[in-house]
Amino acid sequence: MAAIDLPFGWDRPYRYGQAFAALSLGEPGTEELFNTALTHGLLAIAAATIDGHPARVPGRQPSASVLLRDLVGAFGEADGVCLVPNGAADVPNPFGVFGDDYKPPVETVVRTGLLAEALKVADAARHGSGPKGELTEQHVAALEDLDAHPALRSIGDARRDRDWSDGTAADSQELGRAADYLEFLPEDEIERRVEQAPSSPAAPDYFDAAAIQACPVCGYETLIPTGGDEMGYGITAGTCFVCSYTRSEDAAHDLQSSAEFRRLWERDHD
Ligand SMILES: [Zn+2]
Repeated sequence: MAAIDLPFGWDRPYRYGQAFAALSLGEPGTEELFNTALTHGLLAIAAATIDGHPARVPGRQPSASVLLRDLVGAFGEADGVCLVPNGAADVPNPFGVFGDDYKPPVETVVRTGLLAEALKVADAARHGSGPKGELTEQHVAALEDLDAHPALRSIGDARRDRDWSDGTAADSQELGRAADYLEFLPEDEIERRVEQAPSSPAAPDYFDAAAIQACPVCGYETLIPTGGDEMGYGITAGTCFVCSYTRSEDAAHDLQSSAEFRRLWERDHD
């Protein structure tokens, strides 16, 4: 069965929302969740707003700090704030719930200063180096501000979904771990692994039901399946040959459900 087509990066709002809903200041792993939410939130916004940005196409994806610089480069910055236009695609008044004279926000406030500071704090905690500090309510509020962009708007859904599975929170941590590992690989080693992925002893052969998939961390088609594709979206458990990201059965199931929800929503809103 041919997999149902999903555009590159379709899962970023889901990853941003899930990681945000799972994070809790002072709890272990908060820094990974913060980094995962910020990276996927900024990838979605940069892809939606900057022509020709690398986040629009498969391949190595920029880090959160590079994405902040790219947004500032495209839209400017004043007093540690970058205002990113929400674009004409915004829903003017979803379901009419805001009353007749409601005007949607025309831009999203990206607090580049606070978010860059939060990244430094989170990196120091994750790598055990650099300036000591803790993530604060202000950092979390700046992360939540990104949800105003139409490319995201996913925190509400993520909060309602919290009882789905613990696998989603664990997956958000795993995304952060693999992103850290990817930083250790030089460019030529990444290219070598991309070429070698189909030769892995674990790679599927032509007759297998599940194919190699795009990896949400490194952006290459190098996620080798280790489980079944229950719903036909081409989404399975698996391990990435480049960055070592491992998607669990639980995480694959949640992602399949999210893809199904997205397809039904789009069908009903055409
Ligand atoms: Zn990968």
